[in-house]
Amino acid sequence: MTTDAEIRALDAADPLAPWRDRFDLPDGLIYLDGNSLGVLPKGVAERIGRTVADEWGRDLIRSWGSAGWFDLPLRVGDRIAPLIGAGPGEVAACDSTSVNLFKAVAAALSLRPDRRVIVSEAENFPTDNYILQGLAGLLGGYEIRYVPPGGDPADLLDPSVAALLLTHVNYRTAAQYDLAAVTAAAHQVGALTVWDLSHSTGAVPVDLTAAKADFAVGCSYKYLNGGPGAPAFIWAAPRHCDALRQPLSGWIGHAAPFAFDRDYRPAAGIRKMLCGTPPVLGLVALEAALAIWEGVEMTALRAKSLRLTELFMALVERECAGHGLKIVTPRDPARRGSHVSIACEHGYPVVQALIARGVIGDFRAPDLMRFGFTPLYLSYADVAQAVAHLADILNRQSWRDPGFAVRGAVT
Ligand SMILES: *Cc1c(COP(=O)(O)O)cnc(C)c1O
Repeated sequence: MTTDAEIRALDAADPLAPWRDRFDLPDGLIYLDGNSLGVLPKGVAERIGRTVADEWGRDLIRSWGSAGWFDLPLRVGDRIAPLIGAGPGEVAACDSTSVNLFKAVAAALSLRPDRRVIVSEAENFPTDNYILQGLAGLLGGYEIRYVPPGGDPADLLDPSVAALLLTHVNYRTAAQYDLAAVTAAAHQVGALTVWDLSHSTGAVPVDLTAAKADFAVGCSYKYLNGGPGAPAFIWAAPRHCDALRQPLSGWIGHAAPFAFDRDYRPAAGIRKMLCGTPPVLGLVALEAALAIWEGVEMTALRAKSLRLTELFMALVERECAGHGLKIVTPRDPARRGSHVSIACEHGYPVVQALIARGVIGDFRAPDLMRFGFTPLYLSYADVAQAVAHLADILNRQSWRDPGFAVRGAVT
């Protein structure tokens, strides 16, 4: 599937092709970074404009009720729920992924008070491990065990483990865990699972309920296109909601916030994971962005994602041979998320040279060029063009331009 005609045929037969027009994708850009910041969906700017002008500007504080502001965290959560195999009323959109990790892991520990070990992995996303370290330091007496690179989490599980925190799709390699199998292994020793779905939600099918998972958190500015710094989400299995305790016991998670009681009493269900006043503008943008998912078949999304990543890897191997590139993303479709990472000694300047040509990927230290493939707005022709640019940059060595070596604060 690598001739021009074959690529045109793939695009012509793509059931998701009509979705591209629902995004404000700038002309001439090949955007391979939707795994880091999703593209602006059409209609979001107008919706925020109306919220600012009418709901805030005109109706002011009445909008908490009249515009449904107060219900936003669970209403938006209900739009995310089908994408992760959760039921209605089970997901809250709130806080950042980092803060939700803190609450979710603390909640898991509260359900296993006699255990003192938390398992994570050395190659987890940094904030996941930093938050664990902060929580363990605050609580005292906990040991954090790290799965070594390439290791199997099951090897670190025993009856002293309270919680296992893993990212479902790894942010560097796109390697994907078998959510159900790992959850089952944790349950076998009585440990609870906390899944970070930041690189999964809206990219690969996830079924938390079928996997009998315990907790999950995730990001909504990546494949959910909620906008920079969009509120994250949190899910707890309904069977845990009564017993769990979470330490950020703010008033919005109180059973009766407007009773103004002295003492905290948690709300029922996932609402007890809420902390403070909902960030209305961010939630409104996310709610409008999530409208895109109506009518999207997850099996079609997954099939296209795998074809895009497979095409990219096959073309890179063919067009860029001899330049010392090494694809670190699993070739096995069952183990692959929706991005592809390539180790390259000159990864940073090569990515800058691509960006200068309107092909946007990103770089993850020490040497990974990372390219995200978002099935809702990318075509197979985009993939072929991106690889043609990459090959040209490598062949001409145009990445050697000193301007491409200058590093910004955000890569
Ligand atoms: C992007 C990402 C985050 C981001 O956390 P923030 O609190 O939004 O900065 C967390 N975990 C993983 C695995 C991610 O990929």
